[in-house]
Amino acid sequence: MGDVPARVVLRDVGPRDGLQNEPPVPTAAKVELIEALGGTGITEIEAVSWVHPRAIPQMADAAEVWSAVRPRETVRYSSLVPNVVGAQRALAAGFTDLEVVVSASRTHNLRNLNRTPEESLDAIAEVIELAHTAGARCQVIVATAFGCPYEGEIEETDVVGYALRALADGADSLCFGDTTGMGSPPRVRRVVGAVRDRAPEAEVALHLHDTRGTGMANLVAGLEVGVDHFDASVGGLGGCPYAPGASGNIATEEAVYLLHELGVETGVDLDHLLDVAATAERIVGRELPSRLIKAGPRTRLAAL
Ligand code: ZN
Repeated sequence: MGDVPARVVLRDVGPRDGLQNEPPVPTAAKVELIEALGGTGITEIEAVSWVHPRAIPQMADAAEVWSAVRPRETVRYSSLVPNVVGAQRALAAGFTDLEVVVSASRTHNLRNLNRTPEESLDAIAEVIELAHTAGARCQVIVATAFGCPYEGEIEETDVVGYALRALADGADSLCFGDTTGMGSPPRVRRVVGAVRDRAPEAEVALHLHDTRGTGMANLVAGLEVGVDHFDASVGGLGGCPYAPGASGNIATEEAVYLLHELGVETGVDLDHLLDVAATAERIVGRELPSRLIKAGPRTRLAAL
């Protein structure tokens, strides 16, 4: 390993992205998961989203969840907003970190949001302005950045073009989402490298999925091009919405395990996080895809 960041920030997206792709769970279970994650040393948690309950019933209780959570000083909590109305709700609830999504795939954006990417970016500019007026930060997530379930290949020029437009509109950070796990190390290097060439100062994060087994390889590829913010979900919560039974988000504990092996600090207590992964399994009532839940860390030795 050459010149990789000495420390990375992991954002656990289990409570939002994870639970959104699982059968609905009670409000109290969401609160329990958010609070438990906050005790592991993790410094960023994607807590809820403010989407319409008809679109995503799993997140219909966002306001109840957030009002019940006792926030920690050490954690930044973010919420995903679909539009200006969602942003107003998130800001009114006290969030200081918002996320908005545009898909680099025209078809994916039209099917999910009923808008072209350009129309989404127009609305995102309004959300960014609203966030800044309220003293909040806004991250723009470019989804399907490494491939699309409908279109297959996505032009890098599109991915980079949408990202640069978001930066020009004031985005505080960019996140490239591997929505269906179609990323690979060369693709990660190309997209991140192209953005770095055009906007060297931009804060860049990666939202990786392990749908095709490349999640950890992509994380290392990201590290090697200087990325120091990664999304992951405890236990690997949340499947792939386009491939029933397939895994989605990379598991936070697997990311922590690998990063520590590489000598990269995360600030996360792995044993504690594994306890929370067990809690996550109990909450959804099924085995989660994380292999570290099953195998344990290196310190867990077999009985002689
Ligand atoms: Zn995800």
